[in-house]
Amino acid sequence: MSLSIVLPLYNEEENILPLLNATLPVLSSLTKDFEIVFVDDGSKDKSPQILKELQKEKHIKVYTLKKNMGKATALYVGFQKATKDIIITMDSDLQDDPKEIPLLVQKIQQGYDFVNGWKKNKHLEKGDRLKRLPSLFFNNLTYVLTKVNVHDYNCPFKAYKKQVAKDLFLYGDMHRYIPVQVGNMGYTYTEVVVSNYPRKYGTTKYGSS
Ligand code: UDP
Ligand code: MG
Repeated sequence: MSLSIVLPLYNEEENILPLLNATLPVLSSLTKDFEIVFVDDGSKDKSPQILKELQKEKHIKVYTLKKNMGKATALYVGFQKATKDIIITMDSDLQDDPKEIPLLVQKIQQGYDFVNGWKKNKHLEKGDRLKRLPSLFFNNLTYVLTKVNVHDYNCPFKAYKKQVAKDLFLYGDMHRYIPVQVGNMGYTYTEVVVSNYPRKYGTTKYGSS
């Protein structure tokens, strides 16, 4: 089994090293054949310098967008560059728990083409309370319109068979519709309940609007 983890990031200078420290042991416990693909979405803090040092390390690849293009474009670039058989995505702010990567990988190994995370017991921060209603509205409306049935379309924690990720066309806010694209292409999918932690460092780039 081989594994790519694709991490889009924009101004995450305080999160990069803790994220790497939490993720590396999990990946190496699963396989020797893994890569960590950082996509720097035009960060203006110290993230580019930190990543420049890190890309000297084995297993780490860094791709840099010249300007901030948004998470969907960052993911698209990461998917085009990723080379391994199974591709995992998480956010780079440690709101997801890398220890849960094996749960998603297991579902792919069972035969599903795509696994969507479900933050069932969502931790609500101050800013997040405002997102609750739009999120509920979005998830229900997306189901009604598309009939692709997952609970948490926009959950950042996802796993793909390589070809599925390569087939996605992502730009603008399209990262929110990844399960819809996957379902519409006829791929099989399932979901897994995942944890959700408060952001320790930095600020959210996506508000309730
Ligand atoms: N991100 C990105 N480009 C952007 C905005 C965000 O690559 O223009 C990354 C960000 O660094 C994080 C993920 O996308 O890894 C989700 O962003 P954020 O945590 O701000 O969103 P929230 O969790 O608050 O919805
Ligand atoms: Mg976040």
